Amino acid sequence: MADLSAFSGSYAEARARFIDTARATGATVYEFRHPTLKGPNGEPLCLDVAVAGPEDAERVLVAGSGTHGIEGFAGSAAQTAWLASGWARRLPKRTAMVLFHALNPWGFAHRARGTEENVDLNRNFVDHDRPYPENPGYAEVHPIVTPESWDDAAQAEVFRQLDELRARIGEKAFSTAFNGGQFSHADGIYFGGHREQWANYAFREAVVKHVAHAKHAAIIDLHTGIGPWMEHIYLCFHPEGSAARKRARDWWGERAVNLAGVTHKALADYQGVLIDAFAAMLPKAEVTCIVVEFGTLERKEIQRANMAGRWLKYHGARHPALARVVHEQFCETFYPSDPRWRAAMLEQSREILDRGIAGIGR
Ligand SMILES: [Zn+2]
Repeated sequence: MADLSAFSGSYAEARARFIDTARATGATVYEFRHPTLKGPNGEPLCLDVAVAGPEDAERVLVAGSGTHGIEGFAGSAAQTAWLASGWARRLPKRTAMVLFHALNPWGFAHRARGTEENVDLNRNFVDHDRPYPENPGYAEVHPIVTPESWDDAAQAEVFRQLDELRARIGEKAFSTAFNGGQFSHADGIYFGGHREQWANYAFREAVVKHVAHAKHAAIIDLHTGIGPWMEHIYLCFHPEGSAARKRARDWWGERAVNLAGVTHKALADYQGVLIDAFAAMLPKAEVTCIVVEFGTLERKEIQRANMAGRWLKYHGARHPALARVVHEQFCETFYPSDPRWRAAMLEQSREILDRGIAGIGR
């Protein structure tokens, strides 16, 4: 039986486990604490950073968890298990692993995808002083995905209308409209925000403090959801033919760049994503970025869960019994309880992190 002790039942537990394991294994821990907000049990909300290796390493690999709140449970377990795996013996010279724990701590603690302002942190890294990117297709999506009721009949009607829209505008336009990110409807899905979120600020503070000195920098942003059950997929946004894309292929193999296993038929044009902000902040470094998704359910169920998460925030309180069931399904979608899934995810995450550290250390 695999050791699943790195998995936690709450944000506070995950945080304590991460910090304790980091300290016990010789990593140094830093915290970026939200000035006012607390978790559901009054616990502090922090982006915690563990530096494993030299603080001034010229090669720095960041692995982050919880960009999408609830997905942090799996990412946190991956980070904690990696810390507990004897990293000091495997770390190449002049190389550090810097773990960002709970990039969106409010969402993690409240078991939600977005921030306290219903913002998808992974769409929030845009220039808020300039006009926002437009996503005109979302105007048609919004009334479909925001029903007041979320019973079975309401969900069936939502999917009937989404199918109709997809058939009419095509797969790629549908993906961009649905989940590319939007800045027009604050109570909608994949909302990028009308201001920089605290989590955005904290992330950039942490990058300045722990990565800005590096000559070679890389980031693995750990997610769950997209991809086949018990397997992982990579999303690489570096352009075709770029040196960064070649590095991603060298480190993680062909599947790092060929979208193997991605269940989307056509990827959206994403706006304001975290790993792009990371690269933009480090103009003098050689930067490699990758998103890793540990697959859970099929795409339709991921869409259902994201719409359900939005319904919970705006309508759930008026339907407490239904909300409990819906939230349980939501959590199960992004943090499966099946021990086989957890064991597979841990094993794969260790290899992905080790490949990253070996790659940047070469
Ligand atoms: Zn995610």
